[in-house]
Amino acid sequence: MKAEIICIGTELLVGDIVNTNSQYISKKLTDIGIDLYYQTTVGDNFERVKECLEIAFNRVDLVITTGGLGPTIDDITKEVVADYFNEDLEVVQKYYDEVVERYSNRGFDIAKGAKKEASILKNSELLENEVGLAPGFFYEKENKKIIVLPGPPKEMTWMMDNQAIPLLKKYSDSILLMKTLEIKGIPEGKIDEDLEKYFKMSNPTVAPYAKERCVHVRVAMKGLRENSGNIEKEIDKIIEEIREIYPDACMI
Ligand code: ATP
Ligand code: MG
Repeated sequence: MKAEIICIGTELLVGDIVNTNSQYISKKLTDIGIDLYYQTTVGDNFERVKECLEIAFNRVDLVITTGGLGPTIDDITKEVVADYFNEDLEVVQKYYDEVVERYSNRGFDIAKGAKKEASILKNSELLENEVGLAPGFFYEKENKKIIVLPGPPKEMTWMMDNQAIPLLKKYSDSILLMKTLEIKGIPEGKIDEDLEKYFKMSNPTVAPYAKERCVHVRVAMKGLRENSGNIEKEIDKIIEEIREIYPDACMI
């Protein structure tokens, strides 16, 4: 399954915050063998978010969005997704009650915002948010799958781990395992020559990453989850071969 992450929030574009959500989701998808092909960041603008969905669903099967699920006018994610799929939004009562209660305790009446915050797409699967007020959802239509998650990292990470990943595992029977060697004192260009045949391999793949004072060589292999033992053996075999060339290389 090919995936794209769309992070929604003008704050991200103007450099106010670092996009940690993107990194977190990428890592989690990679762990369960879903191929992440693109990461997109877009501001809180209806037309541009819709354009991103159109582009994304022309090139991947799964889109994960974060951000823009709150009660305010700039929170537009659900409205755009509803528009894109031509679906209505519907209120999830328990989230509505919770939002109303939370605010009325503090003397505010925000029924309209609460309705917005507590809504998800009709015909979608609710993704619970046990650490915040905005629910997420999973929706599927004509082989297009979308997971919609809130922006606050505490909520997004909880929902990714406890809601999205268990769900996505049903669609992915593969895993990607990786091990990394750190090689010090040898220039990148020399490593490139020494390991040329490895860098040309396709599964497992071997790739160099130049760091400030060393080079990391990552060996990664994808396969069926049920074969994880064999995948690890294949990776270890290559790691050992590389260590014969660079005896001081260490695993990190
Ligand atoms: P809220 O209900 O808090 O408005 P939301 O789902 O509407 O949540 P946003 O308004 O887009 O999400 O973002 C809320 C906050 O979450 C932002 O101010 C920012 O601090 C954080 N945040 C949003 N997106 C990201 C991201 N991609 N990486 C890191 N932090 C993020
Ligand atoms: Mg918001």
